[in-house]
Amino acid sequence: MTLEPLPENDLTRHRRLREQGSLDRADLDAILDAGFVCHLGVVVDGRPLVVPTVYGRDERQLYLHGSVASRSLAGSTPVCVTVTHVDGLVLARSVFEHGVNYRSAMIHGEARKVTDPEEKLAGLRLLTEHAAPGQWSYARGPNRRELAATTLLALSLEQASVKIRTGAPDDGDGPDAELGLWAGTLPLTWSWGTPEPDPLLPPGLPIPGHIARREGTRHG
Ligand SMILES: Cc1cc2nc3c(=O)[nH]c(=O)nc-3n(C[C@H](O)[C@H](O)[C@H](O)COP(=O)(O)OP(=O)(O)OC[C@H]3O[C@@H](n4cnc5c(N)ncnc54)[C@H](O)[C@@H]3O)c2cc1C
Repeated sequence: MTLEPLPENDLTRHRRLREQGSLDRADLDAILDAGFVCHLGVVVDGRPLVVPTVYGRDERQLYLHGSVASRSLAGSTPVCVTVTHVDGLVLARSVFEHGVNYRSAMIHGEARKVTDPEEKLAGLRLLTEHAAPGQWSYARGPNRRELAATTLLALSLEQASVKIRTGAPDDGDGPDAELGLWAGTLPLTWSWGTPEPDPLLPPGLPIPGHIARREGTRHG
């Protein structure tokens, strides 16, 4: 299936380091699927608020959730959401050329508060499964009171941009190459650790396979 490219408009067009931009929607999907924490930027009472929060997604929308008391989740207001993966440090000959290898996505739009009970449950399922695959059917689902205490926002993935930096420092063929300094990249990887049982668990309860299987696997 051919995916529509990401839009290039006043909101999404890269103005600096444009060569790091990608219009490939598959890159956006890969960045979203590689993480589960985003930063939600929203103006609240005239001031910017940038809130780290968990997300899930389907083909068309990002889902964010939280307490009904969260001012950042009021909805019906412009938001900007970023997802960032740091892949390493770029250590150049000059401090000026130092940088970061990364994959990042930015999504602009107006978040919609999900009120339809079926969509809300489906969105919460996506969100849970995105971070912890297998947990939605393993753990107890939300009851009516818990659902009422939870806000779910949906944000269209239409107005999105992607930026990716890979590779070596940019000063290997400049005058600073003569300095004889080491330069290169220091990769950074994250992996899941060993599950730590709740000390209050009764003895002998095995770790479910969908959790145990993640140990040692890469995150990001
Ligand atoms: C881990 C990390 C560290 C970084 N460190 C620095 C740093 O120290 N200094 C620095 O100048 N830049 C840094 N960047 C790049 C930074 O995110 C911006 O892309 C860059 O600074 C350009 O900002 P701007 O305000 O000129 O954006 P503009 O190019 O004016 O932004 C226009 C549009 O381009 C898109 N866009 C811009 N940046 C991104 C992005 N990162 N991801 C997806 N879409 C984007 C958005 O849709 C935005 O509305 C870093 C990026 C990452 C992920």
